[in-house]
Amino acid sequence: MAQLETEPLKEARDTPKSATNGVNGSNGHVGSSLDASKLEYTFTSSPRAIPLKDSPELWAQGEATDHMIMASYNATKGGWQTPQLVPYGPLSLMPTAATLHYATECFEGMKLYRGDDGRARLFRPDRNAERMVRSAARVSLPEFPPEELVKLIDALAAVDAPRWLDPNKPRGFLYVRPTFIATQASLAMKKATEALLYVILVCFPAFDEPKGSLESGSSGNTRRAGLKLLASEEDMVRAWPGGFGNSKVGANYGPSIVASAAAASKGFDQILWLFGKEGWVTEAGACNFFAVIKEKGDAGRVQLITAPLEDQVILPGVTRGSVLETAKEILSAELDVVERKFSIFELIEAANENRLVECFACGTAFFIAPVGEITYKGNALEVPLGDDGVSGVFAKKIKARLSGIMHGEVQHPWGYKIEERGLKVAQ
Ligand code: PLP
Repeated sequence: MAQLETEPLKEARDTPKSATNGVNGSNGHVGSSLDASKLEYTFTSSPRAIPLKDSPELWAQGEATDHMIMASYNATKGGWQTPQLVPYGPLSLMPTAATLHYATECFEGMKLYRGDDGRARLFRPDRNAERMVRSAARVSLPEFPPEELVKLIDALAAVDAPRWLDPNKPRGFLYVRPTFIATQASLAMKKATEALLYVILVCFPAFDEPKGSLESGSSGNTRRAGLKLLASEEDMVRAWPGGFGNSKVGANYGPSIVASAAAASKGFDQILWLFGKEGWVTEAGACNFFAVIKEKGDAGRVQLITAPLEDQVILPGVTRGSVLETAKEILSAELDVVERKFSIFELIEAANENRLVECFACGTAFFIAPVGEITYKGNALEVPLGDDGVSGVFAKKIKARLSGIMHGEVQHPWGYKIEERGLKVAQ
């Protein structure tokens, strides 16, 4: 069996002590702070098989790389313990572990990209880490300095990227999944006294690869390109004001599978989540949603619209924020960028009056995915897909810009380069 030749890795990169070390957390958790500079490394002696492109294993989204990060919090042992980089493997939890009963867990999702220049990069990992701290607070998990999580992800990527993201195959990627669970063996409903933060790198297929202007549906018939969305009914709500739809907690996802599986069985790609009698458009599956419409009247401006964050019913997507900033930067001569409430009825009216220009969903997994159809109460609304029948022009321009940053074509502070220290495989 191939053995991994381990290099004596030093400390995780950029490791000044956090200013918050040793202080009590503002959410009532105690003890020493998470400190990536203490990361200890134990390397695998049995490297895992890498799934082939388009293989069933890849589509199963369950194959992880050789290593993972584990960082434990224990209130009775002084707070955050020394973080570990260890071989990927099963966790050990008591059946009474709180997370298994009360959904005291949160997670993140981002991608580790292999750039055109052969370098591995993350995209704005600071945003994901900050969001994770906010999600953790929502389910009473301990706080940590977000920059320490970024350093731990960096350390894992530095070890596993060289083998798992072939430097000679640009545009490959791994999915980065930080997860945080309450582990105390107790059925008491209380703030987490023990918790585990772990990070894994998982092999994913590319959901956003271009599929051509006509693609083959499950029935074998061709269908228009773009996502087919099924608008939710009034009795099906993903999130509500005062709830936790703006946090990336597992409790938002499990219960939505019934609706998305039912939609998939009818040939739809995602649910378009509406809220309230007004039919406010919120999100598309686990993506944020954008529409481009022309305002009424001859002098009507073109608007790029997306639901606002104030009601706390949508996730503040890293991609969403980046789309908004990028559109303001590169498209302001062509359109106004507006975060505001809008309803399914506004979209239908705009479509009927030929003012609906394009729609797209955006998020880490699907990146920027044009929408081709929205079905509301049995009526299918055809959404324009640009001159090539694949993507509207605004989605295309924004996607090209962000993809350029992710893959090193455009040098930009949002592209976070990994210094791969790596492992060499000796046969
Ligand atoms: N909305 C929901 C509910 C999500 O789960 C996600 C994915 O994390 C998004 C939106 C998009 O967020 P991001 O762009 O940070 O991936």
